[in-house]
Amino acid sequence: MKTLLQIQALDLRIENCKQRETEIPKQKDKFNVQKNRLAAELKEAEERCTAIELTQREAESANEQKQAQIIKYEQQLMGVKKNEEYQALLHEIDALKKQISQNEEKILQSMEDLEEAQARLKEDKQRIATEQSRIDEQCGEIDVELEEAVADRKVLETEREPLTRTADPELMQKYNRIRRRLSAGRAIVPLNGESCGGCHMFVRPQIVNEVLAGKVHPCQHCSRLMYDKPTYEASSVDPTAV
Ligand SMILES: [Zn+2]
Repeated sequence: MKTLLQIQALDLRIENCKQRETEIPKQKDKFNVQKNRLAAELKEAEERCTAIELTQREAESANEQKQAQIIKYEQQLMGVKKNEEYQALLHEIDALKKQISQNEEKILQSMEDLEEAQARLKEDKQRIATEQSRIDEQCGEIDVELEEAVADRKVLETEREPLTRTADPELMQKYNRIRRRLSAGRAIVPLNGESCGGCHMFVRPQIVNEVLAGKVHPCQHCSRLMYDKPTYEASSVDPTAV
């Protein structure tokens, strides 16, 4: 019985480690969300710059085409005989020049915008890098915590193994069955006055007496094994008393 209580104490600690092993990686999810958000922010800032550059390039290439068109028209001017045609060409040239100057304004604006966007991108990059390294650091701490939980559990499992071989086989079997059914918590509980220390229900007086006399008895309500704590505590002083 004493061995079984030791096993249970270890099992509860192993359970705690396993819980940590499940919970700890979940903390990383939160950080992964943050990391994705930062990556999205960075991408957005980069795309803003690219879009401005594209607008600028488009306006520049449009102006090159318009400029070429003007040269073509100017050459045509020299060969034109009719005044109407001449005026029409001049009109076209004028219109192109206006468009070119509008585009030039657009290009200047783009250059200003780009400068601003690039400055912001630079700031964003620094800020994001700082935040990311902070997150990586925290994720590293989480990994260490997880490793510790695994290491702790392995130590406990190593301590548990020899105990299972010295414990009373029948009790051990009962214990294992109850543990499997409960999936967590204690399978062996102290008798609390006249009630079960596990489910807190009253126990038949006859069973109370048997437990007080040193027997290990299953609770009729929850099936947990009940024992008398003072008997056990006395026995831990003098193991031969069991
Ligand atoms: Zn019970």
